Amino acid sequence: MNQATLHSVVIPVFNEREGLTTLTERLTELAQKLLPDATEFIFVNDGSSDGSNLRLEEIALHDSRFKVLHFSRNFGHQIAITAGIEWATGQTVTVIDADLQDPPEVIAELVSKWREGFDVVYGIRRKRDGETLFKLWTARLFYRLIRSLTQFDIPVDTGDFRLMDRKAVNALQSLPERRRFVRGMVSWIGFKQAGVSYDRHERKFGQTHYPLGKMIRLALDGITSFSTAPLQLATWMGVLVALMSMGMGLWALYIRLFTDQAVPGWTSVILAVLLIGAVQLLSLGMIGEYLGRTYEEVKRRPIYLISTAIGFERDQK
Ligand code: UDP
Ligand code: MG
Repeated sequence: MNQATLHSVVIPVFNEREGLTTLTERLTELAQKLLPDATEFIFVNDGSSDGSNLRLEEIALHDSRFKVLHFSRNFGHQIAITAGIEWATGQTVTVIDADLQDPPEVIAELVSKWREGFDVVYGIRRKRDGETLFKLWTARLFYRLIRSLTQFDIPVDTGDFRLMDRKAVNALQSLPERRRFVRGMVSWIGFKQAGVSYDRHERKFGQTHYPLGKMIRLALDGITSFSTAPLQLATWMGVLVALMSMGMGLWALYIRLFTDQAVPGWTSVILAVLLIGAVQLLSLGMIGEYLGRTYEEVKRRPIYLISTAIGFERDQK
């Protein structure tokens, strides 16, 4: 391909074999609407074990606009996105899930917003089909919690479906951290950002790779990457417990000196011990969350490892 790439689309893939054919068809149609010869699609195969890798290679063989990065193992969604963005060469880079929950056709809308002069255009989920109430509510809660803990705006109800201008991509790449909460980092870099509303659909094939445990981890990554408020929580809890114990001390003294009742013993002691124990463990755990992440950053391991890269002009790193 001689023409410089204008639009890159990055698609993280982890065990999505069944949906890949439909996805490819819809992406090809989309390319028709954009500049067909100046569009590239980068599949990042995040260590799939269901045969997605073979299917992807077939697709790439068939149409050189489709490129594939095979990770050496599963590194996780956020890392797959990071790698795809790094290998993309377009003036715009758009990230979209492989499961067709975010309709590829919306990318055309993101692009027209970009043409209006925005550097980051993110998809805002207007409606989310086929997700459990639990997921909807935890997601809502999470976005609002992040918003209240951080000083800057991470737009509510957005995922990783977004378009970035080359300028924003370069800025994003200048953030060196290993634990990557991409949607937060993209908000952090600033630039001219805008949103486009769309309806998020039900997963057509396969099933979610974000069970509760992974969701909690993502949420913790989001919070710890952008706020140190939880670390200060220990201080505030300490102040609160100190005030409470002073109050209780005065009350105990009053009972002892001015009444003939004895201070109730076992219950109050055990409550105080349990409360303070819990507060201490919680604070320690909080410090652990940050310490663990600091340790990871300090090790400076590569974020991901590529086993093969198919269809790229640049050399493998
Ligand atoms: N994914 C990935 N690595 C993982 C888990 C997921 O690359 O370890 C990909 C997955 O194939 C999909 C996207 O990330 O394209 C989002 O995952 P999923 O649809 O399971 O998340 P949900 O939409 O349920 O939050
Ligand atoms: Mg999904």
